[in-house]
Order: sequence, then structure tokens, then C-alpha cells
Amino acid sequence: MLVTRIGSGALLLMAALGLAACGGGGEQPQSARKPVQTAASAADADAFVAGINDDYREKLPYFSAAQWAQATYITDDTQLLASRANEEWLEYLSRKVQESKQFNEVDASDDTERAILLLKLSTANPAPSDPAKRAELAKILSKMEANYGSGKWCKAEGECLSLPEIEKIVNDPTATPEARAEAWLGWHETAKPIREDYVRFAELGNEGAKELGFANLGEMWRAGYDMSPAEFDAEVERLWQQVSPLYDALHCHVRGKLNAEYGDEVVPKDGLIPAHLLGNMWAQQWSNIYPLVEPYPGVGSLDVTAALKARRDGEYKRLLSEFKGKPTPLDLAELEHQADAAMAVQMTKIAEDFYTSLGMPALPESFYDKSLLVKPRDRDVVCHASAWDMNMQGDVRIKQCIEPDEEQLSTIHHELGHIYYYLMYNGLPPVFQGAAHDGFHEAIGDVVTLSLTPEHLAKIGLVPQQEIDNKAVINSQMKWALDKITFLPWGKLVDQWRWKVFAGDLKPADYNAGWWDLRAQYQGVSPPVARSEADFDPGAKYHIPGNTPYTRYFLSFVLQFQMQKALCDAAGYEGPLHACDIYGNEEAGKRFMDMLAQGASRPWQETLEKLTGTREMDGSALIEYFEPLLAYLEEQNEGLSCGWEAAKR
Ligand SMILES: [Zn+2]
Repeated sequence: MLVTRIGSGALLLMAALGLAACGGGGEQPQSARKPVQTAASAADADAFVAGINDDYREKLPYFSAAQWAQATYITDDTQLLASRANEEWLEYLSRKVQESKQFNEVDASDDTERAILLLKLSTANPAPSDPAKRAELAKILSKMEANYGSGKWCKAEGECLSLPEIEKIVNDPTATPEARAEAWLGWHETAKPIREDYVRFAELGNEGAKELGFANLGEMWRAGYDMSPAEFDAEVERLWQQVSPLYDALHCHVRGKLNAEYGDEVVPKDGLIPAHLLGNMWAQQWSNIYPLVEPYPGVGSLDVTAALKARRDGEYKRLLSEFKGKPTPLDLAELEHQADAAMAVQMTKIAEDFYTSLGMPALPESFYDKSLLVKPRDRDVVCHASAWDMNMQGDVRIKQCIEPDEEQLSTIHHELGHIYYYLMYNGLPPVFQGAAHDGFHEAIGDVVTLSLTPEHLAKIGLVPQQEIDNKAVINSQMKWALDKITFLPWGKLVDQWRWKVFAGDLKPADYNAGWWDLRAQYQGVSPPVARSEADFDPGAKYHIPGNTPYTRYFLSFVLQFQMQKALCDAAGYEGPLHACDIYGNEEAGKRFMDMLAQGASRPWQETLEKLTGTREMDGSALIEYFEPLLAYLEEQNEGLSCGWEAAKR
């Protein structure tokens, strides 16, 4: 089981509610077993779940070992083994899901019903029982994913760019608006060929979801939140309404800055912001344009990266001084590598120390023996950071090509959030070894990163103590907001679009227009060039062809502030929320662990209550956290006409 960060293009394998929902290649078995026809009892359902728990214990270590070997040692052989293990696992899951249909009408215990629901939700693309349709669905999924993975924009004859290369242009605030629009268009063109596939995918996915007892695929995706799909819709909208004033203020300010930079012709003073000018292909996180909007140039930036690099270089010098004889170039390369590895361990220990300071246990010995913390010199690995639970009983690992910089340090804290979640819920039956809902898993490590304040970094000796004035606070909040606040409308609308598609409320003839309606309504952005129904712009985002639900990220961004607020309260902290550091507070740690230990065994409301004392998700802590920035933005926005009209068709 593994969990990864939101990436722009990398394959994301998500642990969905206690199950490794690892439909990476989109493989599905070609044959389906007929559902059992005899009437089933509650006792049968209990036995069925017990069998699944036993199977997980037996099968998952094998599955994880094959995936781990492949990800940390890419060869034809390990790929063959991993894909075989993946097929076997998906075949098993899909067989069990089919069998579970016999309990659709059985009145079983709460735990058993919950376990069966979690089993059904273990895949985001349930296949119909008809073998021909199963095969067709599998084929469409792998075609869509392959189309995304191999998408290229050919700028000129013989000059074809892949997504990371195209992103370099779009992300660069110094590139001309024309160059960025061209690159934006180049990437979005690559999604056109899967438009028809998506229409068929929605039909087949809906059919599979209906067989499992859901009205459509969108309702199935919303079935994992211990409330009705309609209630969940309303809940997400309520959270959005809570936090949107901050987004609106940021949108207004950034639009003003962009207008000043590029003029009325390119960015109007009011209305929508062209989506290609926000430093990101999907306008989902805007920190790349920070230089254009930095409130107080140069004030208060902490050079954590420089501090980490200095430590790493110190390590290298030490190794060199201990070397006997005259080192060859090969020896020097090896010493460099050893210094990188030592630094990676040191950075991981910094993150571990945060968790143990809260009263959580030290990581098991095997974590350091078996994790991959640095890019090996002798082989290819998948560098995308991820956290793994190999056997559901303590063999946890991270895989990350750690380099000595600030972002990587923060990523380690994030990954260890997953690791401690695993360790805390390892005592539960395997089907319940998962997050309370899918927004929780991503939130845990991010909560901890909120405590990495300038004071904290000074306290642990990473950077010198320095005076933090209000200007430095505003600068650092702006940087955070450009990632955390700008993400919110995007995090909401991606599934908003899919729920409409799956429900039949958005017809294929309006796919693209419906997409841009939502982007206008929530993000306040417009396409850089005219779009038509020949385009398929949703398909230019990995999670659409990769069929990964997205609302979890929105929820995680809201929850992490709510959790931080609750932990700070538990710690008796009384200052401004943005300066709170829960390091070393065991009372906060105890609350944290109580919540984590419940895994997916109970409705999330109950689990959230363990930590926060409330059964509702709440966006008010996010607003409180950014109070200084909001005040700054309101002052800056005075005299500007804020907001935008999202034209309704
Ligand atoms: Zn993660």
C-alpha cells in the first residue's frame, strides 16, 4: 500500500480506505465469475469479511514487495513481476467485489457492512460483469493513460516537447504571454484524441457502479463519506463558501499585479484571468509567479536550503579528510554519494524527531535499513516520493530521492505523516487499515509542516534566530497562499465536472464548455485561446485520464488547518495560529494518535471528533491562519473592482 503526493503528471497510486487501489496500468481480468445465487445470511457476510482480512494479510506483502522492487530497481524483469502481481491483485479484488454483491440486501453488522463498502470502493473504476465490456473498459483506461503519458507538443518539425518540458515554459513568469499561451495550447491539444474514449468510459463506469448498487459512478465516489451523495455535495460547497473570500481577495490582488505587468490587452482589470499566466499548466497553484507579487521584496526570506547544503558539504569534507590515500575520480564520486546519503538520513531524522517529540514511537530499525532515501548511483528508480506499508505490521518505508533543500525537507515531513498513520492503525483488521476518509491521509504530514515556522527552524538549529516582523510574515504567507489557497477552487471543480458527467447532467456535446463554466465560476480564469467542443481540456489533467478522484485533495487542504488549530488548542497555545508550533507537546500528540489509530474503522465524523472535538469539517481555521495576509490583501485591493462574472450559458 502506498500513498503519493499530488504530482503534475506522475502516476499516482493511492491507498483508498485501507486498500491498495493500485490500478496503475488499468488492467482488469478478462473473465468474471458469476455472482453467487443462493440467499446469503449475516453470518455469511461476517465470514466473507474475515476471509478478506486473511487474504489481505497473505496477499498484500507479496504485492507490495513486487511493486517496491520495481519502483526501486527498474528493469524488464522487475516490471514483469510487478505487473503480474498487480494483475493478480486486481483480479482478486474484482472477484471479491463481484462476490460481495450477494450481500447487497443482507442486514449485516455495522462493521461488516462497512468492510464490504470499503471493499467495493477500493477501485475508482468498477467494471461491468459482462466480459466484453470489462475488456473494453480496461482497454479504454490504458489507452487514456498512455495518451497522457506519451503526450507531446511538436513546436516545430523534429522539436517535440514532453509535459515537463512544456511546463517549464508555462511555469516561467519571465516567458512572454504569447510563448506561454502557445505552450499551454500545445499541451491541451494532446488531450483531444481521448474525448470519445471518455464518453464511453463514463458509460461503462456507470454500468459497473450500478451493478454494485450505486446510482452512477459519481455517486459511488461520494459513497465513502458516511453521508448521502447529496449531503456530501452540500458539505463541499459549504466548505468552499467558508474559504472563498480569501481566494477572491487573492484573485483580485494577483489580477491587479498581472494587469500592471502585461496591460489591459492581455489581462483585463476586471473579469477572468487568462489561465496561462498563473505559473502553472492548470492554474492550480501559483507560487511560480511569487516574484511578480512578492509584497516586500527581499524581506525575511530564510535560506533553509543554503543551511542544508552547507551541512551536506560539511559531511563531504569530513568524509574526504578521513579518506586514506589519494582518492581516484571514482572514489570521489562515491564519497559525494555517501555525503548525500548521510544528509538524507540526517534530514529524515529531523522529521522523525518532530513526530517522536509528540510522543509517537521511534521509527522501526527496518525503516532506515529498507527505505530508499537517496537516488542510487547504479540503477534507475522511480524518484516520485511515496510512503509504503509493506506488510501491515511494521515494515514501513519511504522512497524519495532526497536532496538537501527546503522543499525536500518538507516532503519528508509529509511522507512520515503517512508512515505514522500506517503504524498507528496497524493494529486494526486489514480492511480498516486506511484513512478515516480519503482527505485524511494527505492531511496528516501537512499538518506537521505547518509547525515548521521560522522560530521552529531556529529552535532546531537549522537557521539562525532572527527577528520576524510583520513584513516577513506577509511575505511568507503570500508564498504559502499561492499554493494552498489557489488550489482550493481547482481541488473542488475537477470532481464537480465529473460528477455532472457521470450523472448525465453534462452531456458529451457540452463537455468542454461545461469544464470552462466551472473554471470561470470557481477559479475565475479563462482559456488563453477560444475553445470548442472539438477540444477536451479536462483530459489535459492527469487525474481525468488516470481516473483518480480529486475531492480528497480539497478536503485535505481544509482539514490540515482545522487539525492544526485543534492541536494548538490542545497544546494550550494562545498566539496567532500561523506562528503555532506543536513540537514537543505530548497532549497534542496524544490527540493526534487517538485519531490516527481509528483508521477507517469508524465513520470519519467520529474520528475527527477524537482530535478536534467536533464532527464537522470546518474552513474557519484556514481563514484564521491567513488573517495577516487577508488584512494585507484587503488594504491592497482598496479601489480595485474585485470579483468576476462567470457567464452562464
Ligand atoms: Zn502524500
